[in-house]
Amino acid sequence: MTAQILVVEDEPAIQVLIAANLTRAGHEVVMVADAEAAQRQINLALPDLILLDWMLPGMSGIELARRLRGEERTRPVPIIMLTARGDEHDKILGLETGADDYITKPFSPRELVARIKAVLRRLAPQATDDAVDLGGLRLDPVTHRIHAGGQLVSLGPTEFRLLHFLMAHGERVHSRSQLLDRVWGDHVFVEERTVDVHIRRLRAALEATGHDALIQTVRGSGYRFSTSGKVAD
Ligand code: CA
Repeated sequence: MTAQILVVEDEPAIQVLIAANLTRAGHEVVMVADAEAAQRQINLALPDLILLDWMLPGMSGIELARRLRGEERTRPVPIIMLTARGDEHDKILGLETGADDYITKPFSPRELVARIKAVLRRLAPQATDDAVDLGGLRLDPVTHRIHAGGQLVSLGPTEFRLLHFLMAHGERVHSRSQLLDRVWGDHVFVEERTVDVHIRRLRAALEATGHDALIQTVRGSGYRFSTSGKVAD
């Protein structure tokens, strides 16, 4: 499956290498050459993962990572730091700043792709091909199918992405604006009540097999996928 990856790297040769390999691995790449451009891009849309060079002209990668971790909206986005520095002190500083993993240049393209996959699995499973089994539902991103009990559930593309995100982060509550950011990729132009419309459609589609109660409204907070059966409302 396609993850949207924001690459912040100023060296043209490495830009080309990264873009070619990530695209081949099935990802969508947005490439920027400095932290300021990265921040502008992030303000528009949250990527599934950020591959962030440490040494950049202007604001450093470390400083950008620190800022992203300091803001509620950008805090959950996984960050992999990319750097020529290999020593243990820098590695620890990178991880303390909030990077989720760390790759030292020069790196092998295979290692890069594998590390990205591992971080996505851990932190952004909705951006992977892994099937999710929860609460009697099985969602398969590869075939784009959902089985409820033995029955096939038919969903529109937005409901599918919404359910995938909620199931991949089961039991966690997400606000409408978080869902717009992470599922729609647009928290600026899409209205929050759009989320309610698609939640309603999703519940309606799950109703026939009695799985609609898995999609819970948490009053004043948002929505969650929960197998606990108790609606907090
Ligand atoms: Ca650099």
